[in-house]
Amino acid sequence: LTLGVISETAPGERRLSVVPDVVKKYLGLGARVVLQQGAGVPAHFPDAVFADVTFAASAAEVCAQSDVVFCVQPPTEDVIAQLKPGSVLLGMLQPWASAARARQLAEGQITAFALELLPRISRAQSMDALSSQGAVAGYECALIAADHSPKFFPMLTYAAGTIRPAKVLVIGCGVAGLQTIATARRIGAMVEAYDVRPETREQVESLGAKFVDTGVSAAGTGGYARELTEEEKARQAERLAKAVAQCDALITTAAIPGKPAPRIITAEMVAKMKPGAVVVDMAAETGGNVEGTVAGEKVWIHDVLVIGPVNIPSRMPVHASEMYAKNLFNFISPFIQDGALALDWDDEVMAGACLTHAGEVRHAGVKQVLG
Ligand code: NAD
Repeated sequence: LTLGVISETAPGERRLSVVPDVVKKYLGLGARVVLQQGAGVPAHFPDAVFADVTFAASAAEVCAQSDVVFCVQPPTEDVIAQLKPGSVLLGMLQPWASAARARQLAEGQITAFALELLPRISRAQSMDALSSQGAVAGYECALIAADHSPKFFPMLTYAAGTIRPAKVLVIGCGVAGLQTIATARRIGAMVEAYDVRPETREQVESLGAKFVDTGVSAAGTGGYARELTEEEKARQAERLAKAVAQCDALITTAAIPGKPAPRIITAEMVAKMKPGAVVVDMAAETGGNVEGTVAGEKVWIHDVLVIGPVNIPSRMPVHASEMYAKNLFNFISPFIQDGALALDWDDEVMAGACLTHAGEVRHAGVKQVLG
């Protein structure tokens, strides 16, 4: 069994889908690993640290040899065209983003697994790349806010007095938001947080933050939130307005799977924020939780700095790659026996993460969205 690792081509992507320790584990299962030369360099894993792999000069050469190809972001159309029919592609394939890509994978007879489709059940936690990369992003967003704030986050006593700690408001308390809260607390900020799922109150409070109660509760299916009605959105905005106006940093992480980011903070709310306040909109890439966010930019709205960072986990490529590579290993390794791949379509986690197989788009939810 040959497992292939290709270089990432998306602009700014620095992560890699294997790390040296995980390569050793694949070898231990009787597989061989082919790595595109230099693929690990952006993540600070030079070729020299991969002692036991075979190197290939190009993505085409990796694909020609591999039964399974690992990636972080979706490969380009050209690379997908080079995958062997019947081979497996495993990565964060952005399944909702492109009908053309899904069609190309299906027509190329590729068995594609998109980790975004992984069922969020307990058994799948160790494979959950959305969670591992969400945790990295949440940590980073707290640091970005602290770095751009003109204020200290912690309380500071100095010879001439005391500086009060910054007030940080976190909206969206999933995996990323909880890590943001924990990080902002560690730096010493006073943190308030809000999510539409009522069960998050206890999680927020256990991190030493205060839950902002808007009276709007919208638990959806599978542990996710559902979209709010117009009336609920208006009520939420009205109740959140005070907390937004009082905070020094606002960090938003709200998402609905497969949908554009919910718009929670209006331009009017931003206009009423304190001079010098900072907004970090983690949902910038999917449309933003904040009106006025520009993905990949820092914009001043009145005297408020609104930051829309993109591909945030890629800012910490060493640990993000390590976490991600382990997620991929935990997903695929149960199906590698004696150096051969034996997929088990009765396995709900494996089957649930399948985007394309045997010439078809398999995932019902994606089919519905892509038409
Ligand atoms: P996500 O990235 O899809 O969304 C982030 C957060 O935004 C969620 O907490 C959501 O409730 C919130 N949100 C959506 N609309 C909102 C709005 N209008 N206002 C405020 N907040 C809003 O979520 P996620 O971090 O991927 O996790 C979602 C759920 O999945 C959680 O219940 C989590 O515990 C669960 N989970 C389970 C597993 C597992 O068991 N394998 C792994 C990870 C996460």
